[in-house]
Amino acid sequence: MLDGHIHIERGEYTLEWIDKFINKALEQDMDEIWFLEHCYRFKEFVPMYDSVCAYSEYIDKWFHKKAGIFQLEDYLKLISNVREKSFPVNIKFGLEICYFKKFEAFVADLTRDKELDFLLGSVHFVDEFAFDHKSEHWNNLNIDRIYTRYFETSIELIKCGIYDGIAHPDCVKLFGHTPSFSLIEYYEEMAQALSLQRMYAEQSSGIFRRCPDTAELGMNRDMLKCMKKHNVKIITVSDAHCPEDVGSKIPELNKLIVEA
Ligand SMILES: [Zn+2]
Ligand SMILES: [Zn+2]
Repeated sequence: MLDGHIHIERGEYTLEWIDKFINKALEQDMDEIWFLEHCYRFKEFVPMYDSVCAYSEYIDKWFHKKAGIFQLEDYLKLISNVREKSFPVNIKFGLEICYFKKFEAFVADLTRDKELDFLLGSVHFVDEFAFDHKSEHWNNLNIDRIYTRYFETSIELIKCGIYDGIAHPDCVKLFGHTPSFSLIEYYEEMAQALSLQRMYAEQSSGIFRRCPDTAELGMNRDMLKCMKKHNVKIITVSDAHCPEDVGSKIPELNKLIVEA
């Protein structure tokens, strides 16, 4: 089994910290794990967030607590240290990058020839709006408009040609807001574009772990069906942010894929 989305950001960049994740992965019967970090952890990516910080005082505070802690080089050093050793699970290293259309070239330049195994693109902001922080941030906003822009942005991310995969592809649903229109056409367009770009889509337990009352486990069933119809590669992931969550609900996620 594979867990393709594990953050190590809550610890030091040491082999001892990595070992904790590997031990949990073995306990959970994983044979492959993919580590990644949010790009904003690294100073180099901080300029991408100027406009979202200017848009929201809340995000500005959140961002300046978490962002720019390391240089990308610190992470690359850890990666090469891990690669020198052998482990009983296959390990890959990548980055989870917030997608902003105007920073496509910036991201391509920063990530070129860095020997990362994969780049994962994420929509965490719909235009300037950080939709996945708190449900009450949606108050007085136009839900249809957020959904439309979320899917338009996701399709731009897929077509930009920088990424190997798209993270949590319908996580806009996390707090249970629903649009007044059907999303089938967006699912279809996303699946077609992913297939064309040979990108993978995540089947994730992360949103469900965070919002069990408002979010289903994994992708929406119709979205999953579209992905299968277009032969999009689907990767099971926990979006773990600590060793305890590695491998969380991976068997259940696989079952949903088979049944869709
Ligand atoms: Zn994410
Ligand atoms: Zn993540």
